[in-house]
Amino acid sequence: MKAAIISDIHSNLEALQAVLKDIKKRRIKSIYCLGDLVGYGANPNECIAIVSQESDATIAGNHDYAAVNKTDISTFNPVAAEAIRWTQKKLTEDSKKILSKLPLTHSTGDLLLVHGSPNKPEQWHYLFALDDFHHQFSAFMEQLCFVGHSHIPSAVFQDTNSYTDFLRENPFPLLKKRRYIINVGSVGQPRDLDPRASYAIYDGNNDSLEIIRVEYNIPLAEQKIVKAGLPEVLAERLSAGK
Ligand code: ZN
Repeated sequence: MKAAIISDIHSNLEALQAVLKDIKKRRIKSIYCLGDLVGYGANPNECIAIVSQESDATIAGNHDYAAVNKTDISTFNPVAAEAIRWTQKKLTEDSKKILSKLPLTHSTGDLLLVHGSPNKPEQWHYLFALDDFHHQFSAFMEQLCFVGHSHIPSAVFQDTNSYTDFLRENPFPLLKKRRYIINVGSVGQPRDLDPRASYAIYDGNNDSLEIIRVEYNIPLAEQKIVKAGLPEVLAERLSAGK
């Protein structure tokens, strides 16, 4: 089985369309989405409709739940909170229904999907340093756990001796004696100084994983953010990739 895993679209229609085009070009049929469909960008309803149609399973991100008042925005920074309030005004009833029903996790075969962390997913923890990942492996049974949330693509493995480390190669083989937590990066707001949209391809036939980067029309996404009256910093950060 081959699957594309996308995350953190954040209402960026241009990035989402470019990524889906790339997935289709590679003839990959299964798509999973790790949440944060909305927040920051100018096309929330369009992104929700497309992901609902294209994705085999979609889970909730903190911005999705915030947009339908299922999570508190007191921990959001002022710009993120402003974008959530803007999004709440724009969401159609259909969109609200879809976001409200998204689950926190989804398990399918060897794969677990979660937005922030497998341990206490409802608390939206960020995984950055190796120490953040280390104790997460006991929180799930599957061989692979896919996460988003930090918008920084990375992969960490744990072997049978509980030795944990980052993987530096891309693509990389998935070894049976190892378990993995893989951050697929962000489609709509990358923060690793590479402004191209990010997603992952899981190849279960060849036991491999690859992070893919896709160019998209950044100036158009930025113009829409400014025109929508969203904070301009949300436009500027797209071309900076941070
Ligand atoms: Zn996000």
